[in-house]
Amino acid sequence: MAKKKSAGPELRRSCGAMAAHMMLLEQYPSFRANQMRLEGATSKRREEKFDAKEVPIVTIRTIVNVVYKTAEQNISDAQIATQIKALTADYRASNADRSKVPAPWKGLVADARMQFELVKVTRTQTSVASFTHDDKVKKASTGGIAPITPKTHLNLWVCALSGGLLGYAQFPGGPVATDGVVINYQAFGTTGTAKVPFNKGRTATHEVGHYFNLRHIWGDTPDCSGSDNVADTPNCAGPNFGAPKFPVITCGNGPNGDMFVNYMDYSDDAAMFMMTTQQVVRMRTALETTRKGLM
Ligand SMILES: [Zn+2]
Repeated sequence: MAKKKSAGPELRRSCGAMAAHMMLLEQYPSFRANQMRLEGATSKRREEKFDAKEVPIVTIRTIVNVVYKTAEQNISDAQIATQIKALTADYRASNADRSKVPAPWKGLVADARMQFELVKVTRTQTSVASFTHDDKVKKASTGGIAPITPKTHLNLWVCALSGGLLGYAQFPGGPVATDGVVINYQAFGTTGTAKVPFNKGRTATHEVGHYFNLRHIWGDTPDCSGSDNVADTPNCAGPNFGAPKFPVITCGNGPNGDMFVNYMDYSDDAAMFMMTTQQVVRMRTALETTRKGLM
């Protein structure tokens, strides 16, 4: 793929989940304890050879909070519907582009057996030009709106985000008042204001992955030392951007290399198609323990 020659910044994925996470861990010591407990529960399931194929299909009741300054940012119900549809396709592994997964990983493609149902849309006009990963969009006093029943409903906020940020999410076990996922209105759904290369709804797929405790596949370190605590995603050095060509080898992970087609990498929407069995084990543990109110 040809690189853009324009003087502007290259459009590449940027997620604020880890930055938001580090800030919240400092503020809420109980969040750290909850995360450690969940990590323990996840390890136990892995050791018990938990079969993710046998779990019930769960419908996640979803609320979308649109926070807009301009009319363009007040996205349509039709656009919201495309996002819910894309999320369900990705979390049921029924996305049409899964056929593009490179052959060595086809057997690892997993169905999380989660589907998403839109139950409410709120619309809030704000004077804030753009938000960042500091949760101001989640409070009325700072120009946003509080989540609605976040223990039983997934809350998605759609708003303008600054600095090229596409979205961020709160990991399981954090403060209820800020629980949910924030998505840039230019990376939400598949129509309307959704902009290439983030117009296949995968920013939400990625952020909802964090919401269910998935980490970035490179482990958020600038070298090979980090891990996503998932055994069937190869160890890799850092994020992949754009639409890489198979294979991309780092960290001695040849011949197949980095799993850049995974939703938890930084590839473009049209270049990510899958989650793995062990990622599903991790998400289902979060759903069935820390997030069991959603069920
Ligand atoms: Zn992320």
